[in-house]
Amino acid sequence: MAITRPIGLPAPDLTPPNGEAGHETPIAAGEPGRETSVAASEANRVTPAMAQYVEIKAAHPDCLLFYRMGDFYEMFFDDAEVASRALGIMLTKRGKYLGKDVPLCGVPVVRADEYLHRLIALGHRVAVCEQLEDPAEARKRGAKSIVRRDVIRLVTPGTLTEDTLLDANRNNYLLAVTRARLSSAGEDTRFALAWIDISTGEFRVAECERGSLSAEIARLEPSEVIVSDALFGEADLAAYWRSLPAVTPLPRDVFDSATAERRLSTFFAVATSEAFGALTRLELTAAAACVTYVERTQIGKHPPLSPPLRESAGASMAIDQATRGNLELMRTLAGDRRGSLLDAIDRTVTAAGSRLLAQRLSAPLTDPAHIARRLDAVASFVGDTAARAETRSRLQAAVGRGGPRDLAAIRDGVLAAADLARALTSLKDTPDEISGALKACRKPDGMLAAELSAALAAELPAFKRDGGFAREGYDATLDDTRALRDASRRVIAALQARYAEDTGIRILRIKHNNVLGYFVEVTAQHGEKLMAAPFNGLFIHRQTLAGQVRFTTTELGELESKIASAAERALGLELEIFERLVASVIAESANIKDCAEALARLDIASALAHLAAERDYARPQIDDSHSFIIEGGRHPVVEQALSRDGTPFVANNCDLSPPPDMEAGRIWLITGPNMAGKSTFLRQNALIAILAQMGSFVPARRAHIGVVDRLFSRVGAADDLARGRSTFMVEMVETAAILNQAGERALVILDEIGRGTATFDGLSIAWATVEHLHGVNKCRALFATHFHELTALAGRLDRLHNATVRVKEWQGDVVFLHEVVAGAADRSYGIQVAKLAGLPSSVIERAKVVLAKLEQEDRAAPKGFEDLPLFAAPAKPMQDKPPSAADLLAAALAAINPDDLSPREAMDALYRLKEQAAKKAGS
Ligand code: ADP
Ligand code: MG
Repeated sequence: MAITRPIGLPAPDLTPPNGEAGHETPIAAGEPGRETSVAASEANRVTPAMAQYVEIKAAHPDCLLFYRMGDFYEMFFDDAEVASRALGIMLTKRGKYLGKDVPLCGVPVVRADEYLHRLIALGHRVAVCEQLEDPAEARKRGAKSIVRRDVIRLVTPGTLTEDTLLDANRNNYLLAVTRARLSSAGEDTRFALAWIDISTGEFRVAECERGSLSAEIARLEPSEVIVSDALFGEADLAAYWRSLPAVTPLPRDVFDSATAERRLSTFFAVATSEAFGALTRLELTAAAACVTYVERTQIGKHPPLSPPLRESAGASMAIDQATRGNLELMRTLAGDRRGSLLDAIDRTVTAAGSRLLAQRLSAPLTDPAHIARRLDAVASFVGDTAARAETRSRLQAAVGRGGPRDLAAIRDGVLAAADLARALTSLKDTPDEISGALKACRKPDGMLAAELSAALAAELPAFKRDGGFAREGYDATLDDTRALRDASRRVIAALQARYAEDTGIRILRIKHNNVLGYFVEVTAQHGEKLMAAPFNGLFIHRQTLAGQVRFTTTELGELESKIASAAERALGLELEIFERLVASVIAESANIKDCAEALARLDIASALAHLAAERDYARPQIDDSHSFIIEGGRHPVVEQALSRDGTPFVANNCDLSPPPDMEAGRIWLITGPNMAGKSTFLRQNALIAILAQMGSFVPARRAHIGVVDRLFSRVGAADDLARGRSTFMVEMVETAAILNQAGERALVILDEIGRGTATFDGLSIAWATVEHLHGVNKCRALFATHFHELTALAGRLDRLHNATVRVKEWQGDVVFLHEVVAGAADRSYGIQVAKLAGLPSSVIERAKVVLAKLEQEDRAAPKGFEDLPLFAAPAKPMQDKPPSAADLLAAALAAINPDDLSPREAMDALYRLKEQAAKKAGS
């Protein structure tokens, strides 16, 4: 819902109630009706406030400027037009600037987060400009002086910190990309990536080659990418940058490699960048670009970041964007988390655990030893149900991202971690991953949690500015000040009772609001009484409303300032306590971060164990071979979806291991009718490889996988109208990428490649693709196709294996068994499937006629397509009319191939036809 001010009402402090009209108004108020030259020069006059606005806006031309005026953030000029359209809020006009109306719109400060969220999501950047002093301060400098303002923060997609603006279940990465050319010809280009989640402090760097750049970026799914102007303008990359959600080109100095080391060292307040380990110069440059951007957007605030940690190239399975998309790893093709693999396997109980799980799923490992360590951790929780339940229940207390509630979250997290470390000493076997995590759980100083427990009240406000978060008894001075504040409040209550008694007005009330402060309120009928002697000496009239009259008294005024100052002092003291606690948390931050991360790791291990137990997953065996043996494999997402309807999932085997005495793995060519389960089978094997290598148990009875270093998955004829390429073009571009990049360790899933063009083109391309995969890429692959002709290739290619999904024909209908067996499909059952789908029966019958005719021809060289009744017949729509008996007779005749018939069969056929013709005559 859009919030707008009623039109015609001025923005709150455009015309302050104190009567200083024009003060604090950046825009010179227009004076309607005065169209003279005097007015023109008057309108051209720029007020000091306007000058301030224009100056601030000029410094942030690429941002929408949220200009704080009282309780609103106002936007002017183009910003107002853009924002009102984007947010659906009212656009108004306010005065004139250089003779023209000034468009204006605004959002209330209290709801600013919500509007910020929407603007950022739409790809805008917002500069938040605050009042840096109280308007009263400004007035002290003279009636015409304006409140000091400046931008305190740039809000961009990659630099969000607010919980309210972030999805707790996923990381929010800012990614910097830099490039070095090692030869002048431009080949041998290397890229460095540095990425930060400033809401969690995570900071990583890595190098990669051009070929894996997009897969790396796809893995990180950054919310914002920063690159130098030069790299942004690069012809080779321009289309790619445009395909990403938010790419911000920045001036050269941000990516200056000469100053990178110094900028990084300054940010982390260390003497030399050696503190960061062996980062290459390119990595240092990317990392420095990140911190410089963070400094420029956070303006003066210094978010706690971990020092940059290097990720070695090739440590994770490369999975490009198209593969992630069509395997629906993190979200479905429609963009929902529900229905994705992540959603199907996420049993974590903390947001940090859920974020880490998403990270692991997007970057399955390639080192079998590392994978085994993770699997050990899962296995130990699979084996110990009690420890698993205990861990999961203790983990419910999570560590959040600063207000008082965050301090409490840290306290609870630290305490839960310590408890957990104690409880888990009983775990039957403690693999390294778990003992390491438990050690980290014990790291934070126990005194800190004790201090936080002593300091924080049981009920906490959302913001520190609300006060009331410090526990009574924690700080004597605070308690005294609060007592004074509350005592004065009691005095007010007593005063109300006394006034009521003295005046005889029983319903006299003392109330408070922000404009008047404390005041005495009586109904209109009693108002007269207080305004007359003897009471008019005591009660000073302030306001008359429709039903009430309001007064103040000298006593009330004095009390008010006493209360206000006590309340202010109490809040001041609380804020000091808050800062002190924050400082001790920061002093412990490295340990707390380790501890929080350990909790997330324990969360994942126990959650994956929970999943494995719940859905009967098995521990995969992973090594450096080229094996790929899945026994009783299931699709993790489809299986769960089917089980909700009580339908069993048919488990299937897959073996892509090299045949005896061969090095390279097999290619399975899978044929079978539509809806048989080919695509499901293909994807389940890819998903099992991903799950295994991220360190999860897998939906199979047994799995033995030689590490997959790259995964490719393509579906024929996917639509990509958004990027303005034909579907077939997309299919071919993606297939080209696979044929050029897949190595012997790759796993390739090709689903109906060649579907997007004419039959013979498609068949030829699919044919050549299989040969190339077999002879050149030599990778393990699954290839589903509707071109039955391809099955003939098995005779020539020794590592090609034909498989088909079984179906059964029953009373003219097709029944899907979803069982993958060796062999080729006998036919495609297309017409039966079409019948299942509810095509009009006339169309089905006609299709049978056409099919019969086609099958008589030599499929390799069909001629006479024109003879076909379907093509030759005038395009008279057949609608839903049942086929005529003549048609049926013709179909039956066409289906007969006299050369194939024995004399006996020919006789039978003749009798059948006569019988059919007789029926026709009889009907
Ligand atoms: P194809 O690619 O051969 O056209 P799909 O893989 O899209 O077929 O499968 C069609 C439907 O069949 C799926 O949506 C699913 O509901 C069901 N299905 C597929 N494989 C299985 C299986 N192994 N067990 C049970 N149902 C399955
Ligand atoms: Mg399919």
